[in-house]
Amino acid sequence: MRRLFSRFLSAQGSTTGHYPEPRLKDLIFFVTDRCNMRCNHCMFRHRVDHPGPELTLEQVSTLARSIPRLRTVALTGGEPFLREDLWEIIKTFCLENRTFHVQVDTNGSMPDRMLEILDRFADLQSGAFMTFQVSLDGLKDTHERLRHSPGSFDRAVTALQACRERQDSTPHFRVVALTDIHRENVTEIEPLADLLSGLRIPHVYDFVRGVDYSSWGIPADIRADENPRDCGLPPLEDLPNLVERIAAVELREGGQFCQWMEQLQIQVDLYRGGKPPFPCLSAGRTAGVVYSDGSVAACEFTRPFGNLTDCRFDLNALWNGPEAEQRRKKIVSCRCTHSCFLLTSHQEWLEQTGQIPAFESAESGG
Ligand code: SF4
Ligand code: SF4
Repeated sequence: MRRLFSRFLSAQGSTTGHYPEPRLKDLIFFVTDRCNMRCNHCMFRHRVDHPGPELTLEQVSTLARSIPRLRTVALTGGEPFLREDLWEIIKTFCLENRTFHVQVDTNGSMPDRMLEILDRFADLQSGAFMTFQVSLDGLKDTHERLRHSPGSFDRAVTALQACRERQDSTPHFRVVALTDIHRENVTEIEPLADLLSGLRIPHVYDFVRGVDYSSWGIPADIRADENPRDCGLPPLEDLPNLVERIAAVELREGGQFCQWMEQLQIQVDLYRGGKPPFPCLSAGRTAGVVYSDGSVAACEFTRPFGNLTDCRFDLNALWNGPEAEQRRKKIVSCRCTHSCFLLTSHQEWLEQTGQIPAFESAESGG
């Protein structure tokens, strides 16, 4: 695996990149802080324990219309399906922003709501793609112990199964399972892969994240204090072996089963003191975060620099304003393993090196 990825990197030529002009392509949007679980590994437990206000649908619509067409919006939280108007939010991005890909991150506790929204998505035929990403932290005992939620494993598997059954007849839709790897579930990678392979559902791996152990060099005055209450990484010396184990699963499954393999290798290198193959090109430039109360951040590891309530929910104006520019100047020397920003920076870098078409060439929206 490591050798494969090294070849991949060298095939791209330069391992540097330049900071792109600020233009949002990928947005993480916390539609709610409310959640029906209290997971040990949750990075946002203080938000979940004390949910703040939520943007109204009208405010979401203004936000979506203010920005250029997005490549991806990740609707997250909290538990997004707790929002009664989640479908209207999805539809707003599909129709008013013409977002290419809408992803909904969920704990899978509400299979019926998921299927209801899936039906509406199929009827809409907007041309957008949609992914449901369902978290699965381990086998039943581990999953339910970590989430303090009896019955949650069976509900999540039911949700995965039901969505997978609809996938073949629902154009532009897919369902995936996500496992955040940490010291409590590291032994269950192979049995989980067996389960998901049987369901024909791709498996996304990530490492549990916390500012204290997943980032380096963030200036203290903008560093967000986001850490899980009770969860840590597996021992660092075990990480290379872990990637080998996941690579072996991928090989066994014939490819296209384990997602984000390249990002996993970069994360392991960073955790073991290495340098990233490209700078953080996306945070605050092509990728950003909107929290449920309207506050806006360059990434989840840095504090918000503004709030949409102060600019009539015009995200584009805030993104191109002086506060955002100040923030961009402060995030040129940090590093982290946050997968959303590694993936989008990787994508940006591939665009810059001409390896993939630039998203800018796509029809613009907004
Ligand atoms: S990790 Fe997700 S499901 Fe768990 S408490 Fe946090 S927001 Fe809720
Ligand atoms: S996402 Fe980028 S800007 Fe944010 S902490 Fe990580 S490296 Fe720094």
